[in-house]
Amino acid sequence: MAQDMAEEEDTPEERLARLVLSLRSQGVSDPAVLKAIEATPRDLFTPDLFKERAWEDSALPIACGQTISQPFIVGLMSQALKIEPRSRVLEIGTGSGYQTTILSRLARLVYTVERYRTLLSEAELRFKTLGLTNVVTRFGDGGEGWPEQAPFDRIMVTAAAPEEPKTLLAQLKPHGILVAPIGRGPVQSLRRYVGDGQGGFVVETLTDVRFVPLLEGVAREP
Ligand code: SAH
Repeated sequence: MAQDMAEEEDTPEERLARLVLSLRSQGVSDPAVLKAIEATPRDLFTPDLFKERAWEDSALPIACGQTISQPFIVGLMSQALKIEPRSRVLEIGTGSGYQTTILSRLARLVYTVERYRTLLSEAELRFKTLGLTNVVTRFGDGGEGWPEQAPFDRIMVTAAAPEEPKTLLAQLKPHGILVAPIGRGPVQSLRRYVGDGQGGFVVETLTDVRFVPLLEGVAREP
């Protein structure tokens, strides 16, 4: 039987299990991260047009010209952040809310900021549907962080910052960790900043990624 036909007959659970296996084979090994991905129905976050492709390991378009990240990158970034059950995490770029949901299953509290009102309200509905009680949302410019709630144990930026995000790094605890795509071009470097406890950071480059840019200000919508 053709492989494609077999896949079409698979249940969402089987497709999700296959996706998790594929992430594992690509190096996502943190059991808590894999469990969080396994517990999250990605088809809830993709537009109707792409529901069939929700279980593929690829980024997909969402409203407002933005994208839901590739599951492998979600897994990699979540793992790189070394979240602890007591962590308070700031996420910049709520988008569909898929990455937020994964974070909410790993951390104590997740603060998430989005510059499109439309995307944020759709994501809020999904958090409600899933019964998430530890996600706090904000409509605004995430480049400013969330000063009233700082400092954070962890920060994840899911849009490409043109350069080192100093404002966000300043909102991290002394031994906190920030993961962000850095660069101005279509391909950026995924970087991890680990606080050294004295105001400095150990910086590592993890891999190349393609994210939509981190833009200034809030989006104007019709
Ligand atoms: N984590 C998301 C990925 C969304 S794409 C997901 O899993 O679906 C990146 C998102 O960052 C977009 O929704 C974009 O609108 C948002 N974004 C870009 N610049 C921003 C800024 N300055 N403040 C807040 N959100 C921003």
